[in-house]
Amino acid sequence: MSDITLGIIGSGQLGSLLCQAAKKLNIKTVVISDDEKGPAQNYTDQFIFAKYYEDKEKVKEFISKVDIVTYEFENIPIEILKSINKERKVLPKPDINQTVQNRKLEKTFVNNLGIRTTEWAFIKSAEDVKRNEKLLPGILKTNTLGYDGHGQFVLNSLDDVKKDWCFTADYILEKKVNLSREISVVITRFGNGEIYTYEPIENIHKDQILKYSKIPADITDEIFKKAQSNAKLVAEKLDYIGTMCVEYFIDQNNTLLVNEIAPRVHNSGHLTINAFNISQFENHVRAVCGLKNDKVQKISNAEMINILGKEIEEYRSRSFSDKEFFFDYGKKAIKDKRKMGHLTILKK
Ligand code: ADP
Ligand code: MG
Repeated sequence: MSDITLGIIGSGQLGSLLCQAAKKLNIKTVVISDDEKGPAQNYTDQFIFAKYYEDKEKVKEFISKVDIVTYEFENIPIEILKSINKERKVLPKPDINQTVQNRKLEKTFVNNLGIRTTEWAFIKSAEDVKRNEKLLPGILKTNTLGYDGHGQFVLNSLDDVKKDWCFTADYILEKKVNLSREISVVITRFGNGEIYTYEPIENIHKDQILKYSKIPADITDEIFKKAQSNAKLVAEKLDYIGTMCVEYFIDQNNTLLVNEIAPRVHNSGHLTINAFNISQFENHVRAVCGLKNDKVQKISNAEMINILGKEIEEYRSRSFSDKEFFFDYGKKAIKDKRKMGHLTILKK
């Protein structure tokens, strides 16, 4: 039995899968969450419900029970991560989160590494959109707090900028890419600087939400290598510890563009649970808890289907073959477009 207790902030599916990976490694977990019904409570050794992460008493209790802290989502108030980090090491480091959860800082960081992103501009007003008309058709995205397409508006022309928009938040405007493919690279970096890079995963989104992932990705060797080496550079320059993901666009000219960085385990990497001996989750727990970078081996090609909203009902009553792995996140409420589970299918 290991004597490390890992604290996890957040209790959704990513938190649940991290708890399961920790259990495999004999590492105890304590989850703190502002969601009383969060499914990770079914997998963690201890669950702390804090109505707000600002609740100092609850956070104190959490800190007293854990040796090291990680998180399942990047939109946690930065002050909270920083205050926890004064008492227990938070990995990945909070300042990484500060960069990556802010699209402007994120894209500036990536561009400064000499890596291409979509063309973009920082937007504070309708005037700013007008000045950047060359980016239309484009997508206006809130600068912070976006996920699964929330906070995104397609602008085909200046007419789509509504008169009553008051731009209370900061935005970025991105040129709409004529996509040939989307891929992602999941990568784990350890405290001693060692890195394991999973092979690129091909992704299909519907309504801006990931619907389907597969390995191998249908890409050239050149893109395969470049996607992995860019991800490695990003992880190194961030001095990242744990598992992260770089999402990419590939345009019609086969140009590789970084879409965004997720400073955490990633939905597209769920197929690593069944397709590799060590999943993205296990590697994350290994890295943040200071365990060694054990040899990762691919077991099989695979596909993953995200199960959204009501689709879960059909899956709950289905039977599966020995190549199919159904994950039901056990979320109490079924909501339209909510990620309810996933199915991984191992392929030849
Ligand atoms: P989130 O933070 O919600 O994941 P993303 O910026 O990754 O937001 O956008 C979600 C999806 O929307 C992308 O994976 C892609 O399919 C589509 N999308 C976003 N931005 C663009 C763009 N500039 N051009 C084309 N498609 C885009
Ligand atoms: Mg995304």
